[in-house]
Amino acid sequence: MEIGHVEEIFRYPVKSMRGERLDAADLGWHGLDGDRRPTGNPTVQEAEAAFEAIWQTRGPVDHGFAADYRQLASRLISALVRSGTGRRFRDAQALAIDLPGGRVIVEPDEMAELPNGTVVLRRVRTGQKRSDEYDRLEYTLYQLAGESHFARGFEIQALHLTDEISEPVQISSKKLQNRRANSDAMLSKISAGSFPVQIDAVTCPRCPHFFVCAAVPKGPLVLP
Ligand code: SF4
Repeated sequence: MEIGHVEEIFRYPVKSMRGERLDAADLGWHGLDGDRRPTGNPTVQEAEAAFEAIWQTRGPVDHGFAADYRQLASRLISALVRSGTGRRFRDAQALAIDLPGGRVIVEPDEMAELPNGTVVLRRVRTGQKRSDEYDRLEYTLYQLAGESHFARGFEIQALHLTDEISEPVQISSKKLQNRRANSDAMLSKISAGSFPVQIDAVTCPRCPHFFVCAAVPKGPLVLP
């Protein structure tokens, strides 16, 4: 009797890293061989080896700057693995926030537990910390998700791999209140189908929606 078939197999050696596609896998008591375990952390060497396998199939190995990119990736991998020391990771779950205007689903990059039981919701970015980093909406939504689901003890943290900054994020109650109201207003507009364009000469050309956006003038493109 056939109950189904497997189309693709991926393993995820390191949290926050893309999956590695496998042709075959050994399935043991703890899952796929070489897959990340929620209760453990890989060593830098294990993470490097897993990344190298992905790099060989998907990395720009023929690029003129391949060696530089690979070196940069090693630095990020090392920072990511070291930042997990002393934490017990759990599978990141989608967390719903119910606002008057609708429901927002927050998917934290990582969830971990500290020895005292505090749940950590961590946002991981590969780049440098930006000057207005913690004024961005994502952190407010992390905070609201934490309040909704882990009122007994949670912490918001940010990890910036390029400059290796890992720190707790604090948002004042006034800012939180304002941003909650803004989030709810945005949600209400989205629910009502209101998507006004905000044309900007710098951001629009780099926007993934540029060619389908109402901001783009109609008619043929005429080059000067
Ligand atoms: S192109 Fe993108 S950034 Fe510009 S208005 Fe449209 S959606 Fe907004």
